[in-house]
Amino acid sequence: MPHTFNVEPGSKVKLADYDPRHTNGIERAQAETEFAALAQEIDDLQELLYAAGSHSLLVILQGMDTSGKDGTIRNVFGLVDPLGCRTESFKVPTAEELAHDFLWRVHKVTPGRGELAIFNRSHYEDVLVVRVHNLVSESVWRKRYRQINDFEHVLAEANTIILKFYLHISKEEQEERLLAREQEVEKAWKLSAGDWKERQFWDDYQRAYEEALSQCSTEAAPWHIVPADRKWYRNFAVAHTVVQTLRPYKEQWLAKLAKVGDEAKAELAAMRTSSQPE
Ligand code: AMP
Ligand code: MG
Repeated sequence: MPHTFNVEPGSKVKLADYDPRHTNGIERAQAETEFAALAQEIDDLQELLYAAGSHSLLVILQGMDTSGKDGTIRNVFGLVDPLGCRTESFKVPTAEELAHDFLWRVHKVTPGRGELAIFNRSHYEDVLVVRVHNLVSESVWRKRYRQINDFEHVLAEANTIILKFYLHISKEEQEERLLAREQEVEKAWKLSAGDWKERQFWDDYQRAYEEALSQCSTEAAPWHIVPADRKWYRNFAVAHTVVQTLRPYKEQWLAKLAKVGDEAKAELAAMRTSSQPE
């Protein structure tokens, strides 16, 4: 049973139809127990992905401020070997980035074969914040839905497994989290007046998200809507979806590993034979 909502390609998303507090009938204690096993399995699957070297994995995280993008990365991928996992954050573009097409900075950091890259924000900002604040004209951002689909198609055809998560929080939950940042010393560094300003554009963002999710959910790169008001459910749901997506590859990765191992052993045996003294 899936725990995130998979956006059917071609369907029209209305975010109001999704409850950010949804937990799919699972209790917190059970979710946390299962999560621990899933996080371990993600570590194992990443090792196989790396060793087999035939696929890339791209995880894209999007969501309103405080929706939990950082926390998801820390928790869901917390057991993965740091050597096998790279996180990329997309901030306000630099002058050099702005002088290029919007995918230039993104394509440079997509995962190579065997790699796992996690995007904390992504090229979707170019149809989200850019649209909400009219940073380019509509005729420019409107074309980007198709351009994004084409781009992701190129990645998918080069053996990239693409997982896109929209962390869905409620406006009330965001307020609580923003207020909490003011109370907690460890979170104060995340405080930004900008977040309160962006909050005023909540409805515009929701509309922009709805269109991005509707236009850019494809077979090759589907969007998953994650009920994210409850952090424990968010972590569990994302981890579950990652594992469900990767498990079907496991057998072929193991087969590839066995083949590579046999070849290495054969080479070694040949070397030993040829270096035997007469
Ligand atoms: P944070 O994720 O809190 O570090 O903030 C990064 C900021 O960069 C957010 O406010 C994003 O909206 C902004 N940002 C990311 N990508 C773009 C983009 N392509 N154009 C404009 N702003 C962006
Ligand atoms: Mg922020």
